[in-house]
Amino acid sequence: MKNYDSIKREIIDSTSWLVEHEYLGQLSSGGNISVRVPDKDVVAITPSGMPYRSLDLNDICVIDFDQNPIEGNLSPSIEAAMHIGVYQERSDVNAVVHTHQPFASTLAIINKPIPALFDEITVEIGHVVEIIPYAFSGSSELVNNVRTKLKNACHCFLIQNHGALCLGADMERAMKNAELLENVAQIYYHALATGGEISVLPHSAIDYFADMRKLRFR
Ligand SMILES: [Zn+2]
Repeated sequence: MKNYDSIKREIIDSTSWLVEHEYLGQLSSGGNISVRVPDKDVVAITPSGMPYRSLDLNDICVIDFDQNPIEGNLSPSIEAAMHIGVYQERSDVNAVVHTHQPFASTLAIINKPIPALFDEITVEIGHVVEIIPYAFSGSSELVNNVRTKLKNACHCFLIQNHGALCLGADMERAMKNAELLENVAQIYYHALATGGEISVLPHSAIDYFADMRKLRFR
């Protein structure tokens, strides 16, 4: 029963940070996070319908890619198929953080992809934060919409009328990407509100960082 404890602990610690910083609700259970178990078609994921501030190790679900339970008595997140779809589509990704963080979610309801605005964001997240078209939470249509957009090799996405999807080679990097996304979404929101012209990075910089990412994330 101890096999997955370190991964479960990582999920609980990350969830606590996300709740504390208002990326996930205090009392509600919107959003969900997961980690791929190394070298297996197995994922540890937050449960469905549980307030995140009171999770313990036994509450984290371990399931295979067909969603058969391996450990845990609770039902996995209704977005489990979306997480599994990410792992099947992207071998470079081993952690998924899906939140309803405020500024990213604001851009998700005005359908504004975030262009390449800053060096660090473009290196870590990629050249764009694209919009994944809306579909019901937990639906196979949403999973298909996510899988299609993942082909751009970027590490953050906005789910239309829903929230944010942040990916990483491990949980530490997925969490860092969630924070970077919220920072750039907040800045982009304020910049849009001025009505001024948005200055995007030049193509030469975008190409340079794209080459750097190919070396880092291949
Ligand atoms: Zn959600």
